[in-house]
Amino acid sequence: MPRSVKVLSGLVAGSALPAPLIPLTDCSPDRWRELPVARLRRSLLDWYAHHGRELPWRRTEDLYAIWVSEIMLQQTQVKTVIPYYERWLQAFPAVGQLAQANQQTVLMNWQGLGYYARARNLHRAAQSIIADYGGQFPEQMADVLKLPGIGRTTAGGILSAALNQPYPILDGNVKRVLARLIGLSVPPNHALSWLWEGSETLLDATHPRAFNQALMDLGATVCTPKQPQCDRCPWATFCQAHQLNLQSVLPMSETRQPLPHKRIGVAVIWNSHGQILIDKRPQSGLLGGLWEFPGGKVEPNETIPECIAREIQEELGIQVEVGEHLITLDHAYTHFKVTLSVHHCRHLSGEPQPIECDEVKWVSLGDLDQYPFPTANHKIIAALQSGERPFR
Ligand code: SF4
Repeated sequence: MPRSVKVLSGLVAGSALPAPLIPLTDCSPDRWRELPVARLRRSLLDWYAHHGRELPWRRTEDLYAIWVSEIMLQQTQVKTVIPYYERWLQAFPAVGQLAQANQQTVLMNWQGLGYYARARNLHRAAQSIIADYGGQFPEQMADVLKLPGIGRTTAGGILSAALNQPYPILDGNVKRVLARLIGLSVPPNHALSWLWEGSETLLDATHPRAFNQALMDLGATVCTPKQPQCDRCPWATFCQAHQLNLQSVLPMSETRQPLPHKRIGVAVIWNSHGQILIDKRPQSGLLGGLWEFPGGKVEPNETIPECIAREIQEELGIQVEVGEHLITLDHAYTHFKVTLSVHHCRHLSGEPQPIECDEVKWVSLGDLDQYPFPTANHKIIAALQSGERPFR
């Protein structure tokens, strides 16, 4: 059992229970050292030996392959990542092939996985590994942290998994497990440095690879966000949330504002040869480097056709006739939601220019599959492929 923790006079949000949880003011390194650390390590490693997950990237010690898996696993679930990981290693078996690939090929292999900055960073980091480290993924933490797209938890995950180096990790699963174990009374993101201390204190320096993987597996398969299975948990005896029956309340959640909503007018612009105009988004920013159908945000008091005609003039310097409606789509990103209203358009005059994008191109309907598009645009392509060509 953990030593008793200070009684917090406040109430747990959403609960009528006064909770002996740890407030932010009591987050000291001693809190972690007071835990029965040796028993926690042993029980977790024993559990992992019987219940750890078999994952493709655990069958290798290749730094490149493990790095790819760690980047894909940022913000994406294991079952989604597995087929992408396997395809990626076929397309780019080593860092040299990735460094030499063009960005469009890299993005095509990432298409559908989301958070495309990860793919752009992998590509840039591969080029840096070739230029600065002789083609070998660096083995020192300070060097790994210099690579684009790699923060402390990713670096710790890579170096512990590939080289058994004793670095802690703190991904979403680990934050949740530690917050419950210790009984943290604030959302984990308000106590990050303290949770890092916890992960470091608990880490078994003799078996860092197995320990970190065990901790991730515990969070992913037993100490899940909803309905954790405490009766199967090796830490149930030590866990403050379980002792207090607060496992469904912890970790404390952030109060979230509703996501802002944007209405977007989107144009499928046809020329007289039956080709469609697409544009490449700027490298910086959301979905950078991906292709899309042009369009933009609907202004107050503007109709969708008015919006499309204005945006196309401003973004591409051409005039179009806005025609029939093709499809309306709702899509949610991390920080906002969009409704895309898509119309067929006829090109009237002007030479398309990349005024607010990196590149523009006329392509045939059959060639759209050769370009990486954001997920929402795939439904537009499917609608185009299943419909009649307008403006004949
Ligand atoms: S006992 Fe329950 S709440 Fe505590 S760490 Fe285990 S699964 Fe999570």
